Amino acid sequence: MEQSPVEKVIIIGSGPAGLTAAIYAARGNLKPLVIAGKEAGGQLIKTTDVDDYPGFETGIQGPELMAKMRKQAERFGTRFIGEDVVSVDLKEKPFVVQIDNRCLTTDSLIIATGASAIWLGLPSEEKLKGKGVSACAVCDGFFFKGKSVAVVGGGDTALREANYLSKLCSKVTVIHRRESLRAQVALQELVKLKPNINFIWNSVVEEVLGNDKVTGLRLKNTQIGEISELAVDGLFVAIGHKPNTDFLKGQLDLDQKGYIVVKDETQTSIPGVFAAGDVSDYKYRQAITAAGAGCKAAFEAEEYLANMR
Ligand code: NAP
Repeated sequence: MEQSPVEKVIIIGSGPAGLTAAIYAARGNLKPLVIAGKEAGGQLIKTTDVDDYPGFETGIQGPELMAKMRKQAERFGTRFIGEDVVSVDLKEKPFVVQIDNRCLTTDSLIIATGASAIWLGLPSEEKLKGKGVSACAVCDGFFFKGKSVAVVGGGDTALREANYLSKLCSKVTVIHRRESLRAQVALQELVKLKPNINFIWNSVVEEVLGNDKVTGLRLKNTQIGEISELAVDGLFVAIGHKPNTDFLKGQLDLDQKGYIVVKDETQTSIPGVFAAGDVSDYKYRQAITAAGAGCKAAFEAEEYLANMR
């Protein structure tokens, strides 16, 4: 197998965290190599309008924002490989990063592989993604101003999404498959006080209705099997996120849900290996917080490399 020279820093992932890490690492003369993935750009590539990223007063399209970040990273000499990482070996130094047909080695590593929303897995959901089906109220809630929407899930994410949407939408219906919520009690109490949030218990979505846009949902009662229809303009799926860390199992500390365990925001359990963005953050999950963590990870890598010499 082909062997390349040892890199100073490899960044895995090309969302806001990975690209910001690349910009700072390149400016710090670390000559970063980004393993961007076959689907480069992270979750923002699948978003339309981004209205809350500072600096774009009239908003920006997600793919355009990512293209700008990438060009900025390239301007300072970042190199990109459009492949997925197959595995890593962090037990020896330099660290080994295995991509499809090559084995790369590096003195430091920044992992910014993000997280992916868990979807219901319905064909109708897939067909209407971006046409009324979303997994991010902060990203897409604005398009449902004054409209009626549903949120699926009974955890913290679902209730936070419902709470956020209740400030924009005329009506928010939370659909939960059981009759008790998993979310923290304080959040439950907050949401139950909102006059425009109501609950449908013991129910699952069987089908998202609509051709070019969502018009409603077909629901099934999990107790009695009864089928019903609910008219809504949008569906927010909030049944959890899955960090993209399968390739890291057994290599560094992950928590029960698979998120990378960090201290001081970016330091993983392996010195020289840093994490940034949604791969280690289940709480904020914003482009701007991911970008901030990417910047910090680059500084940490620079300091680590300086101390190695
Ligand atoms: P979660 O706690 O795993 O909850 C997922 C919810 O979706 C559960 O109510 C689950 O139902 C439901 N669900 C799962 N699969 C489903 C399916 N196929 N169909 C219908 N419903 C389904 O996920 P989360 O709410 O994203 O939270 C993840 C972690 O992040 C948690 O530890 C949470 O505390 C944390 N978090 C914290 C905050 C915060 O502000 N502190 C905010 C967001 C998330 P069941 O209840 O029946 O299993």
